[in-house]
Amino acid sequence: MNLYPINSGNFKLDGGAMFGVVPKSIWSKTNPADDKNMIDLGARCLLIEDGNRLVLIDTGMGNKQSEKFFGYYYMWGDDTIDTSLKTYGFHRDDITDVFLTHLHFDHCGGAIQWNTNKTGYEPAFKNANFWSNAAHWDWATQPNAREKASFLKENILPIEASGHLKFTEVPHGDILKNSALGFDIFFADGHTEKQMIPMIQYKGKTICFMADLLPTAGHLPLPYVMGYDMRPLLTLTEKEKFLNLAADNGYYLFLEHDAHNEVITVKHTEKGVRLDSTLSAEDLFN
Ligand SMILES: [Zn+2]
Repeated sequence: MNLYPINSGNFKLDGGAMFGVVPKSIWSKTNPADDKNMIDLGARCLLIEDGNRLVLIDTGMGNKQSEKFFGYYYMWGDDTIDTSLKTYGFHRDDITDVFLTHLHFDHCGGAIQWNTNKTGYEPAFKNANFWSNAAHWDWATQPNAREKASFLKENILPIEASGHLKFTEVPHGDILKNSALGFDIFFADGHTEKQMIPMIQYKGKTICFMADLLPTAGHLPLPYVMGYDMRPLLTLTEKEKFLNLAADNGYYLFLEHDAHNEVITVKHTEKGVRLDSTLSAEDLFN
């Protein structure tokens, strides 16, 4: 098995929205804001090459939205999925499976693109199956008013229409062992219904794709929960459980949204679980 970090492009979001009840004087120490109060964010996907399978975890926001839409997100840097795949000798048509941790636009928008005539939408990975789970799919396709702006129909419905939508099982507890994709999955309901956190066994290490359970290293203290979370108190419990497991077992936490820290490890301290070390994904995977 080989793993590769795939940067799909960086963006920015309002620092206050990213840290919920935490005051700016505190969060800005780890995640400095610009003059519009926006903080740097990445959209770092993960590619797993395993035998004949090439699995891409999340896709970033893609490029089909309007200029006005992208105007809210201050895209920066030169990376795209295509240039990142090319760095490692891959093309988007090689991807056999796209695993979507959840269907918020910054995670799944890149799964769907305009068709050639710009008359409709088509999968951006034409040879891939697209993985979600039934509970999250129902939640995303009948969105509540607060979350509706994150679930864009044009990102979601064309996946089903393509005939390539697949669902993973949903476990009775919070960990699905040995999923159809080959890795274990931790299920979390605080950010959104049944967000999926892949836990990949690689050369004796456990690599966890943290998605929106831990967006940046600055979000390690338990109450540092995004304003976007639907059930913030549940996020507290889920983060506590996961971070304790991570500190106990030396997990490597692959951070999708941290523009500057690719992978971290954590340790127990008197104040709770905190940062232990920061690594580059390439160093870890090579
Ligand atoms: Zn999200």
